[in-house]
This record gives sequence, C-alpha cells and structure tokens, in this order.
Amino acid sequence: MTTSGSGASLHRVVLVDGYVDEPTILGVPPYLSPYPRYIAGAIWTRSPGTEVHYETIDGVRESFSAAVRRWSKSDLLVLIAGMIVPGKYLGGTPISVREAKELFSNPLLVDIPKLLVGPWARFGCGLEGGKLALSAQILSPPFDYIVTGDPEVVLGDLAGSGWELADIELNAIREFPDDIEEYVTRGARIVRSHPHHAWNHLICEIETYRGCPRFLTGGCSFCIEPSYGEPQQRELDGVLREIAALHEEGVRAFRIGSQADLFTYGSEEMGEVEFPTPNPEFIERFFSGIRRVAPSLEVLHIDNVNPGTLARHPDESRAVGKAIIKYHTPGDVAAFGVESLDPAVIEKNNLKANSEEVLSAIQLMNDVGRARESGGLPHLLPGINLLYGLPGESTKTLEHNLGFLENLVDANLMVRRINIRQVIGLSGTRFDNEYRSRIKRHEFFSHREKIRRTIDVEMLRR
Ligand code: SF4
Repeated sequence: MTTSGSGASLHRVVLVDGYVDEPTILGVPPYLSPYPRYIAGAIWTRSPGTEVHYETIDGVRESFSAAVRRWSKSDLLVLIAGMIVPGKYLGGTPISVREAKELFSNPLLVDIPKLLVGPWARFGCGLEGGKLALSAQILSPPFDYIVTGDPEVVLGDLAGSGWELADIELNAIREFPDDIEEYVTRGARIVRSHPHHAWNHLICEIETYRGCPRFLTGGCSFCIEPSYGEPQQRELDGVLREIAALHEEGVRAFRIGSQADLFTYGSEEMGEVEFPTPNPEFIERFFSGIRRVAPSLEVLHIDNVNPGTLARHPDESRAVGKAIIKYHTPGDVAAFGVESLDPAVIEKNNLKANSEEVLSAIQLMNDVGRARESGGLPHLLPGINLLYGLPGESTKTLEHNLGFLENLVDANLMVRRINIRQVIGLSGTRFDNEYRSRIKRHEFFSHREKIRRTIDVEMLRR
C-alpha cells in the first residue's frame, strides 16, 4: 500500500467517472450521478487549496496513454464505478473490471494512491445480469483503498485530516443527511468539466432520500436499499439549493431520480410504515420550488415510484401526480419496479405489489398522466421494470408476465417503456446466492423478444 500522496500539501485529485447504475442512482451519460458532485464538494469544502480534475471514462478512452500521463501528475486517483443494475446505455459505456485493472495498474501510476468508490466498492462488482457480483477485492491491487462507506464522507474526512491516508476511515458514512449539504452545493461546479455540459446535454440526477421505507419488512430480496436502514430524507430547502447551484452552473436538465419512491418524499410516515402516505402539498412545494430556483430549466423528470404506494393511497397519489405534471416537462416516466407478476416470485422475494395492485397503479397513472399537450408526448406514463433470475420463478413466471402485459394492451393502457433485466446477486442483500433460475437462457431470450415484438411495438404505436 502506498501513501506517498498523503500530507497537508496534497495538491491535485483526479476523479475518474467510470459511471454508475444502482436501483436509485443513474450516472451514465447523459446522466450525471451525485457521486462526483458530492466528492468534489467535500474536497473543496475541507481542503480548499486542492484541485479536483474530473474525467469521464469515455473521455479517457480517447487516449489511455494521454490519460495516464495526466494522472501521473496527480496526488490521488479516485475511480467512481459500479453497475449493479445491468443495462444498455446509449450515451456512454461504463468501465469494465478488466479495463479498470489495466488502466490503474500502469507503472506510471504506481506511486499514486488509488481509491475505488461507489457501488463496486460497496456492493461488489456486478459483471452482468444473471451472475453473482465479484468481490471488490479483485481490484486490489491496483486500488489501495476500497471505500465501503459514503465516498463524500470518507474523502471529506480525509481532506479535513490533512490527507493523512494512514488514518483513512474507509467505512465512514453520513450520520444525518444534513452532514453533506455544504458539499452538495459546493460541488455543483464540477459539472462544467463534464463533456456533455458544453453541448447542453447533461441531466443531473438529484437525490431526495436514501433507503427504502420497506426496510421495515426487509424490502425486496435482491435490493441494496434496505441495507441503509431507516430512510434519510434530505431537507427540501437543501435539495432546492443544490438545484439552484447546478442551474447557476448552466445545468438545464434534472431528473429527480435518486430515491426509492418519489411519491413518498416528504411523507410524515417515513420510517414508520412500509408504505407511507404521500404528501401532495409537500410535493407541490417541492416542484414549484424547482421552477422558482431553476427558471430556465428545459427538462424536469422523475424516476422511481412504488406501485404499491399508488395502490394503497390512490387519492394522495393522484394529487401527487397532478402536482408533478403542473411543473415537470412532458415525456416523463414513473418507473415502477414491478419485477414480477408471478405470485410465487412476489411472495418469495417480498416484492412490493401483486398484479392487481400493479394494474391499479398503472390505471391511476394513465388517468393522471396520459394526456398530451398539443400533440406532443404524454405527460407522465408508467414504465415497467421486470427482473428475471429471482427465487421462486419458473416457466410459469414467463406466462404470468406476458399475460399481464397483454392485458394492458387489451385494456388500452399505456406504458412508456418496459425494462427487462436479469438480477445480479449482491452482497448486503437477502438474495440467495446459491439460487439458480429454472428458466433456461433460450426461454428467457425468446420471452424478451416476444415482449419487444408484440407489447413494445403496440405501446409505441399509441
Ligand atoms: S421497494 Fe424493493 S426494489 Fe424498491 S427500493 Fe424498496 S426494497 Fe428496493
């Protein structure tokens, strides 16, 4: 382990964004995750004299040798990485484990301390859906430090200690959401280093809370969110200050995507019940506040919504949907993590909603959000995420899922998109790593193809 970069004189930190995709955070271009913003803010707050250089892995790929030469002049290298929700991306290609190993093992970098942060470090390296994640230790070396805590807290504390790497606390986490608010706003200016910023094509992912209200029952078997314990909600004013700071730096697109269920942000029952009652007045204040602090925004979208919330609290959810539509921009998607419509899978994995509840949530969202303005895109439609490889599934699961989707078509309901993914077994979840799916590969692929050919095509036509 090397500590040659430690000491109060630490001058330059390089942040390499290898991109992240977690259940509640997307950071593949055009999306920018909170990680680099928070980390840069932590460093600028605790060690104002330190320069932070941000690079994306796609930028690095233009010339590995040039990147390594640049990095060789730094005092500390930080890689942010982790796909733990496998997906396909149009705007960028996440770093691979092989690539990370090769790049950071370059002899020119041997004396520079290297930190791995983000989902890989915390939950293991998910290679692809349907496989178990590998331990982050496979990246050590070349990485000297695997940060299992919150990167902004670990790096903020490190910077505050005069960069004494010998004292680094790799598992330090936020105690309260307010702990990092100063970092969050101060880090906004890192967006100017992102290549998409210059093209006005950068969408900042915004966090409102962390953890899942369903931690009370253990949450869904495969999910990392319950491991955070009781959800920590950020203060509305703090979130608005962050959006204002990003807007000030020229960001014009925001996705309020970093939380288990946006409809429950601001609920007074958070932490007390599994499905907190939404708070429409709070959401109205939040979204109107966004418009106030970011008057030139061009895109304002949301992401995760729990269909179980809509099924249990239809009136409040309807009011929340209407409040969002008043202020967002059309073409918006409420991503429902349905995962499976098979009762056996739902029960075995403690999923959030059964098929009747999902159907009622889709109906509600269609009622509220399918209208278009002057022939444009529908305002706010549900998206459906399906997950395969979960315990309890069988070929019947394929029938349940397809049958459900066919019913949506017959009922003239709309969904904006259907994501079909295979689970990655991560440490820190209740997912049974010994489990092997009873659905054969070719059955899965032909099922997926059938959904693409029949359901997707029909939904696109609507
Ligand atoms: S509802 Fe399930 S998938 Fe969604 S955040 Fe909670 S535990 Fe995770």
